[in-house]
Amino acid sequence: MKISIKRFDPLLDPQSSIITYEIPEGLTLLQGLQHLKATTDATLSFDAGCRSGICGSCAVRVNGREELSCSYRPREDDLIEALQYHPLRRDLLVDKRKAVETLRHTSAWLHQSREADISIEDEKRTETQSDCILCHSCYSACPVYAVNPDFLGPFALTRAYRYSADPREGDAKDTIDAIQSNGVWDCTLCGECTAVCPQGIDPKMDITMLRSSSTQYGYSDPNFGAMNFGFDPNGGF
Ligand code: SF4
Ligand code: SF4
Repeated sequence: MKISIKRFDPLLDPQSSIITYEIPEGLTLLQGLQHLKATTDATLSFDAGCRSGICGSCAVRVNGREELSCSYRPREDDLIEALQYHPLRRDLLVDKRKAVETLRHTSAWLHQSREADISIEDEKRTETQSDCILCHSCYSACPVYAVNPDFLGPFALTRAYRYSADPREGDAKDTIDAIQSNGVWDCTLCGECTAVCPQGIDPKMDITMLRSSSTQYGYSDPNFGAMNFGFDPNGGF
């Protein structure tokens, strides 16, 4: 089976190149990459950890769609590329530090921890969000990063929702304050993050919930004033 990989070494290559390789049938993509590294080109660079869909480190793009390479079964002529919007270190290996920084900026943790009875419903409300494996797929799929590299983004905002909705949080104001700039109002609600999440998390819905919480803390959509809802200030329609 043939797959193509977008290769690039920022230190050696003037530009990236797409190289086609032959891999055996029946392998996962990660096994195929490991096969190529062992038999064809030891310089091929990619990330991997647990090899069982738990650590989230092996995400790449396949034909423009984010996939965990340890779970994905390659098809003929697939094009494999690195995640978007992360600095490229080499081939499929990216630097994830700036994206992880977004977690700190969202202030997504318990600020005024208190004793609280937690019902099954409370648990269920944030159960899925707690399953995030930080694979960065949603960050790579989010079109807002093409125009705003400082956007807090889907996995950080999902975590902000998870803690702001926790009954043990005595006051979620710090978290809600932290997600106003480059945060909840910058999302276009396109749903790309939700579509690629291997854990079934729905960051788009969590951001919608955070917008609702934001209004309870006195915030409103800063773009609202620029909308005219079809009203012509000159008297026309
Ligand atoms: S719904 Fe929002 S956070 Fe998710 S991909 Fe679209 S713009 Fe990004
Ligand atoms: S929310 Fe989903 S896609 Fe985003 S980092 Fe977490 S597991 Fe990956």
